Amino acid sequence: MSVADGAVEPAAAGVPADLAVIGAGPAGLSAAVVAAEAGLRVVLVDAGIQTGGQYWRHPDEWHLDAFAEPEHTGHHHWARYRGLRERLRRHIDAGRIVHRAGRQVWRMDGDARSGFLLRTTAVAGADAAAVDDRAIRAERVVLAPGAYDRQLPVPGWTLPGVMAAGGVQAMLKADQVAAGRRAVVAGTGPFLLAVAAGLVRAGVEVVAVCEANALSRWAVTPLRALQEPGKLVEGAGYAAAFVRHRIPVRTRTVVTAVTGEGRVTGATIARVDSAGRVRPGTERTADVDLVAFGWGFTPQIELVVGAGAETRIDVDGSLVAVVDVDQRTSVTGLYAAGEVTGIGGAVQSCAEGELAALAAAVDAGLAISAATARRLRRRLARGRSFAVGMHRASPVPEQWATWLRDDTLVCRCEEVPLSAVRATVTDLAADDARDVRVTARPGMGMCQGRVCGFALSCLVAHETGRTRRAVDVEPLVRRPIGTPVRVADLAALAEPAGPADLSPRKERS
Ligand SMILES: Cc1cc2nc3c(=O)[nH]c(=O)nc-3n(C[C@H](O)[C@H](O)[C@H](O)COP(=O)(O)OP(=O)(O)OC[C@H]3O[C@@H](n4cnc5c(N)ncnc54)[C@H](O)[C@@H]3O)c2cc1C
Repeated sequence: MSVADGAVEPAAAGVPADLAVIGAGPAGLSAAVVAAEAGLRVVLVDAGIQTGGQYWRHPDEWHLDAFAEPEHTGHHHWARYRGLRERLRRHIDAGRIVHRAGRQVWRMDGDARSGFLLRTTAVAGADAAAVDDRAIRAERVVLAPGAYDRQLPVPGWTLPGVMAAGGVQAMLKADQVAAGRRAVVAGTGPFLLAVAAGLVRAGVEVVAVCEANALSRWAVTPLRALQEPGKLVEGAGYAAAFVRHRIPVRTRTVVTAVTGEGRVTGATIARVDSAGRVRPGTERTADVDLVAFGWGFTPQIELVVGAGAETRIDVDGSLVAVVDVDQRTSVTGLYAAGEVTGIGGAVQSCAEGELAALAAAVDAGLAISAATARRLRRRLARGRSFAVGMHRASPVPEQWATWLRDDTLVCRCEEVPLSAVRATVTDLAADDARDVRVTARPGMGMCQGRVCGFALSCLVAHETGRTRRAVDVEPLVRRPIGTPVRVADLAALAEPAGPADLSPRKERS
């Protein structure tokens, strides 16, 4: 331990960190600063060049004058982010936190007895020459890698102009660029409203927001909706903007196909029943150049599965990390926070990060405020209750596969059509998604199933009649190499992995 008489020794070269935090989004950023304030010496590793993760993605801080709008444009809880960013800077200056930005952890080995070893690689655009960052050692690890957009295939979904709703939002927040001029936003869940509002603010004509479910689903669990009054206020703000700009929000409505030659020119919009089957005669075509699809998010669970930590299927069908009330996973010394424990939003992620940091501090023998931990646990219980209500109100329609044709590509990387997935089950007796994957190759391409994995596992479950279980989904995300990696980083495996140099390095100028 690096703590003596309540004071933190400055980080020294060659000393393993007390705690490594993977991810600098709402969860990881909160975990890192709270851990440092509790007395732990922290290394924060993040694939992002600057902090904030997905929720607080913002323009390049070193070139803000190149952007028309201020960096907080389109953001909620920005003051909270600025506070976290300021605390992080103070801890970096004091040597309590080392921030390794632009580095992705592609493998994690070890355990609480021997310490954890994180293998990292530089992301595109970051400094690849920092050889000392390739191996980072830490006594404990908080995993906060967040999530990515969940997509469902439909005919035409591979056309340029079809985007994930989160991708559209990322372009708005980081680049202040709108992905099209005339858009339809489709899928399910409150995130569609945030994306549509952002597009309208950027001057895009939003012809419709298509919500697959009926709003009355919220009425089934009204108490859960009331757990997060802040979200209700946010929703009311979107509703006012939609009325002002005359944007129709169509419920029980979906985009069943996208059309165009070489790029999107139209979207087929149809009304559906409660299971998602199209109501005959309701289809119409909208002329658009952007289709933003949002079917929720998929937690980045690879490092959790790789570490052998227990997982479960959450209410929204996602594979998530199992954690105790203080964010400990089933692996000693390993904690998880944010979307990787279940999709619940940024405020929930912050609270989970804080609690994970406090748990790590307690396990390292430090004293923490029991009252703060109790307050966070209560906050998380409310947030989870809201998240369960949100997922129940916004499920992926059971019969979404009825919108597909035989030639609809399920896996766009390996160009595997629906017919090949079905034939692998019916003709070759494949009985789980892993069997289909190794036989017909969906999910074997560049993205390794991150885009098609959810849809593939649902389709196979439907074809085989088997329920989706964690043991069936885990093989789809079990990867010895968690992210694309440079050959030089693989070659370095032959060298003994010395401890990371934790001395502060010059930040970007
Ligand atoms: C594209 C996208 C846009 C979104 N936009 C919004 C929005 O506008 N509003 C909203 O309410 N919700 C949004 N969300 C949902 C959002 O993910 C959460 O609400 C919130 O950001 C979750 O916080 P988090 O800390 O768990 O994860 P994140 O914010 O996702 O942060 C995780 C961080 O971990 C890093 N990371 C991941 N894997 C590794 C690795 N192996 N090594 C190193 N670093 C790694 C990532 O680069 C990222 O910086 C978005 C999600 C996505 C996928």
